[in-house]
Amino acid sequence: MVFLSNEGILRISFNESIKYDKPNRIYPFENSPIYESIITDCAKLTKGDDVKDIYEIMISLSEEIKHDSEPGDTIAILPKNNEKEIDEILEILGYKDYVNDDCYFYVLNEKKRKLFAHLPLKSTLRNVFLENVDVRSPFKKTFLKKLSDYSTSNDKKLLEDLSSPKSENYLNFVEENNSLLCFLKKFSSCKPPIDVILENLHPLQPRIYSIASSPLIKNQLKLIFSVIINENSHLKGVCSSYLEKTALINGSIKFYFRKPSFRIQLQTNPVIMIGPGTGLAPFLSFLETLNLKNIENSDCWLFYGCRYNNRDFLYEAKLKKYLNDGVLKKLSVAFSRESKKGKIYVTHLIGNESDLIFNKFVEQNGSIYVCGDAKNMFKDVQEALLGCLVGNGMGLEEAERFLEGKIKEMKYIEDKWV
Ligand code: NAP
Repeated sequence: MVFLSNEGILRISFNESIKYDKPNRIYPFENSPIYESIITDCAKLTKGDDVKDIYEIMISLSEEIKHDSEPGDTIAILPKNNEKEIDEILEILGYKDYVNDDCYFYVLNEKKRKLFAHLPLKSTLRNVFLENVDVRSPFKKTFLKKLSDYSTSNDKKLLEDLSSPKSENYLNFVEENNSLLCFLKKFSSCKPPIDVILENLHPLQPRIYSIASSPLIKNQLKLIFSVIINENSHLKGVCSSYLEKTALINGSIKFYFRKPSFRIQLQTNPVIMIGPGTGLAPFLSFLETLNLKNIENSDCWLFYGCRYNNRDFLYEAKLKKYLNDGVLKKLSVAFSRESKKGKIYVTHLIGNESDLIFNKFVEQNGSIYVCGDAKNMFKDVQEALLGCLVGNGMGLEEAERFLEGKIKEMKYIEDKWV
């Protein structure tokens, strides 16, 4: 048996496998088998400068794919890394000539096998780097220390310094050097064996998307996503660029349905939905379901937010039609960058509609659903709602208790995305 190297507890051989029980990889919130389906359509939903690139894709579902999803449910996509990036990494590491040969992966330490459940028994180096490991997440100090063993002169010194417990530069370093390729280019003397690299890279994690189409449509799924660009590295997000590329060639993707965590219930009491940007996705699914069920006199109110009226107002025509047809009773849209006087967010509109919100949420015992970016929005929305309650006569403590009660009763539900 010829191993590529004998440095760590992982062995990689081109000759034959050593038989052992490979632990199954369990994906977070798995609620279905892993399916593979084709992306049939892809459309860019935004246009112009100063807005995020947001895409809509359609995934075809064959008859064997059974799902009992409801509005609010999510799927997880198993992404692939960028091919050019991986080829460059393997070339720098010196494995260019055998990247497509079959090879076998074996973990020596029985107790640690679970840690490597993301690695297959048999694959090629190229595919393992494309599908199984994360080449964009920050390196731990222990990994940097290990890499210093395979570096010389200045690189070695710098890596030893960065990996020392007292290092003051570590956090800045990982923020600026957040990809394996970027690291290998910067530390050109560093030539670690491939098993050391694979042992230390994190598993490539599935990426989560809300299903934006109605579960009543059984033969396809709609997703929307924005292509995020990292401020430091200028790299596009792994999964969004993978989806963008795959959609262009009508390629297939792997995914699974996730256990539900945020579901929007059909009800007779008022429903208020707050979802700026792609936070609109679960509400699109809900509204499409109401539309397909011909429910016309719902008491649904949507707060949506985007930057500009003519550039990133997602599904403007569809939402206005829902309003016209009575699927939506009220639509309030905040354009954050239209006014020279300052930003306008959904939270400002909530403040302007204090009396009606009090009527629907408190007097008519309605529900509020909020979906979007976890950073600031949820705190701001809660504050705006407390403002509505206080503005209509509640004391602040009473308003806080009221909101806590609604959260317990599942009549104030948040879907926080990071
Ligand atoms: P976004 O960056 O959240 O921006 C949407 C609008 O919200 C912009 O006009 C933005 O204004 C405004 N905004 C910024 N801060 C705000 C605040 N504190 N309160 C209210 N509005 C605020 O849009 P996005 O990138 O599409 O992100 C939406 C979030 O939803 C992401 O976290 C995403 O992961 C998540 N999500 C995604 C899906 C999916 O399936 N793809 C589903 C559900 C949720 P400015 O930019 O002008 O400041």
